[in-house]
Amino acid sequence: MNQTIRAMVRETHVGKDDFIYPLFVVPGNGVKKEVSSMPGVYQMSVDQIVRECAEVRALGIPAVIFFGIPEEKDEVGSGAYDDNGVVQQALRAVKKETPELLLITDVCLCEYTSHGHCGIVRGDEIVNDESVELLAREALTHAQAGADMVAPSDMFDGRVKAIRAMLDENGFQNLPIMSYAAKYASGFYGPFREAAESTPKFGDRRSHQMDPANVEEALREVAQDIQEGADIVMVKPATPYLDVLWRVKERFGMPTAAYNVSGEYSLVKAAARLGWVDGERVMMEMLTGIKRAGADLILTYFAKEAARYLDSHR
Ligand SMILES: [Zn+2]
Repeated sequence: MNQTIRAMVRETHVGKDDFIYPLFVVPGNGVKKEVSSMPGVYQMSVDQIVRECAEVRALGIPAVIFFGIPEEKDEVGSGAYDDNGVVQQALRAVKKETPELLLITDVCLCEYTSHGHCGIVRGDEIVNDESVELLAREALTHAQAGADMVAPSDMFDGRVKAIRAMLDENGFQNLPIMSYAAKYASGFYGPFREAAESTPKFGDRRSHQMDPANVEEALREVAQDIQEGADIVMVKPATPYLDVLWRVKERFGMPTAAYNVSGEYSLVKAAARLGWVDGERVMMEMLTGIKRAGADLILTYFAKEAARYLDSHR
């Protein structure tokens, strides 16, 4: 009956320090375009990203992760490892304006390839090893532009090892890697594909992303990434995979991240808009569940809203 006692014995605390806020960088100037399936989420040009990052930091959120949408896409995703690509530009600009914000980059090719796949395609196959080389180059350009951490999201084999070697050879021995270690082939990514303009033109990602039914496989994937040098391991999506998150945290005891993905966000937003759920309450319950299941870090589109909520409910 006593809310003070209830708060004092609370076991799980979601805090702003847990949040990583995803941002979509597009070419141009003065661009701020809302993603229709993700109310409150925008594609932004570098100048707008700089302002956004200052606001994110002022709200007390410690970190952002950048996804880039290039001017032009091609077969080999050249924009991903271009020194002057959109993400590389955003890194330099934000580092100058808001140096205390932790800048993480998504390392993948799918936003940059004309076919929308995460790597090089030959025939109807996505080839692993050549793709991994390009991912390592991409990670290096991010590091050189000021990234504080890189996050490979492709799920190809051997990419953490290749990125680690590339960073080490070029003086970035201390730059950590957060690997998307257990990433499922999920329908919950739908709205993201609009935000990142990365829908595959043919086929799907089932040749390298995991079957939603598997958990032992997830533990093997995580073990492999740790062995290759991952500093933080991620489970993605979050809420449909809380058991996976729990087992990863229990088994390895590593710093563990969960990606509360676009579909999880959009479902809450849509239901709240229809008046079917209390959006704020469901948001906090979702984030609490993810934390309770073992996440140390939560990548979430709710970060700003949840930060404001936490400020007003102290
Ligand atoms: Zn990808």
